[in-house]
Amino acid sequence: MASSPPEGSPAAGPRIDSRLSERLAELSDLAAATALLGWDRETHMPSQGAGPRGEVLATLERLHHERLADPALGELLAAAGRAAAGEPESDVAAIARVVGRDHERATRIPPELTGRIARATAEALPVWQRARAESDFAAFAPHLERAVELRREVAACFPDAEHPYDALLDAFEPGMTTARARAVLAELRAGLVPLVAAIAERPEPAGLRGPFAVDAQRAAALEIARSFGYDDRAWRLDDAVHPFASAIARTDVRVTGRWDEGDLSGLFAVMHEVGHGLYEAGVAPGLDRTTLGTGVSLGIHESQSRLWENQVGRSRVFWSHWQPRLAGRFSELEEIGLDDLVRAVNVVRPSLIRVDADEVTYGLHVVLRFELEVALVEGALAARDVPGAWNELMRELLGVAVPDDARGCLQDIHWAFGELGYFPTYALGNIAAAQLWDAARGDMPALDDSLAAGDGAPLLGWLRERVHSHGRRLDPAELLMRATGSELDPAPLIRYLTAKYAELYAL
Ligand code: ZN
Repeated sequence: MASSPPEGSPAAGPRIDSRLSERLAELSDLAAATALLGWDRETHMPSQGAGPRGEVLATLERLHHERLADPALGELLAAAGRAAAGEPESDVAAIARVVGRDHERATRIPPELTGRIARATAEALPVWQRARAESDFAAFAPHLERAVELRREVAACFPDAEHPYDALLDAFEPGMTTARARAVLAELRAGLVPLVAAIAERPEPAGLRGPFAVDAQRAAALEIARSFGYDDRAWRLDDAVHPFASAIARTDVRVTGRWDEGDLSGLFAVMHEVGHGLYEAGVAPGLDRTTLGTGVSLGIHESQSRLWENQVGRSRVFWSHWQPRLAGRFSELEEIGLDDLVRAVNVVRPSLIRVDADEVTYGLHVVLRFELEVALVEGALAARDVPGAWNELMRELLGVAVPDDARGCLQDIHWAFGELGYFPTYALGNIAAAQLWDAARGDMPALDDSLAAGDGAPLLGWLRERVHSHGRRLDPAELLMRATGSELDPAPLIRYLTAKYAELYAL
């Protein structure tokens, strides 16, 4: 491991034991190989490769788990923690703390339980696919019930947790608790429900007509991505059914896009994934191959993608620069006025499907899933009663009637994977994005001018320093406090959305 300190860190601190750094490098390499094979599976692998690829990935994951849970690693980490006791800001202290937590988590959950979860997931996935295609929740219900039971067993491995859902949430958002998420999302709900209702009473602005040729969209997306920080020597853009970003290394970032000729949603999907990629590319080089050289949590990761996609990509100032530049590729952009274009890329419509939701209603889709997940884990809601609870909440939160379970509680793959605790991170990310946006604007009065000039570098520089460079050295709450001076707070997001849409919809 390089001994140079990451940017912004005060000192190199104690040196890392070479036996520990070798083990961390090996864990990082196994994770990188898993990421590369996963990227290939979603982009280039022929469909008949799925079976063998699954075997390879399972082997890599088993090796990773065994090495992470190895008691010898635990001893090296404990020794590193003692050596760095006087220098809590050093890389070694961060490694001892963060990897120590990974190690503890890996040892707490027995391999036998992990195996049962893997088998249950393998059985549930095809059933969910069929159930969704036929809108037949009853077929999937026993699998959801088993997934919840298995996750309750995982939660029971962490008896110190205040709430059984805490242990599930913590796997995706270290340090976050059910109580805190509940308070934050309740405040978000209270802010969003009246805003969505007020917007729904206004006439809906016209959307874009299209068509927008896919090749032209891909070229435009690349041009925009480069202005954000996409580097042709270190990045790739490929197509995927479900867009994602994956970093094999800081200098090997893979982003994917999905294209629809009817609108420009592909551009926004790429901006989103590039936001994820910039986070991975911006971690301090000193953290390479330490297992700390990646994003700290799903929520903070989502804050980066949402910030570039929404606060930047859906803003008037952004389109004031890009509309004339892209008009040569898309004739509709030549004809439409800037105000109408901005309205067209910011249409708010309460709808059934989370992944198609706009920036205002999105948070309510997440609130719904969080409330149901907590109730499932608490035992207050039975799996078979999910459709009724889902449909009632959709009416309450979004005023939408759910016609069938395929467009209701069967729409997401997460529960088929048994992943409970993942959904809230989407909303936490939106909340953090608005806080970071406020802080960046406060620090850089000329931020709008740079975006109006098509220059993402000043914003990227600020995010690198405050967020990206730290990798996993700082926990999400600490990172946010240092970057914004505040703990996680939905008020800036509610303020941002209220002000933006009051203007767009003349509320
Ligand atoms: Zn994302």
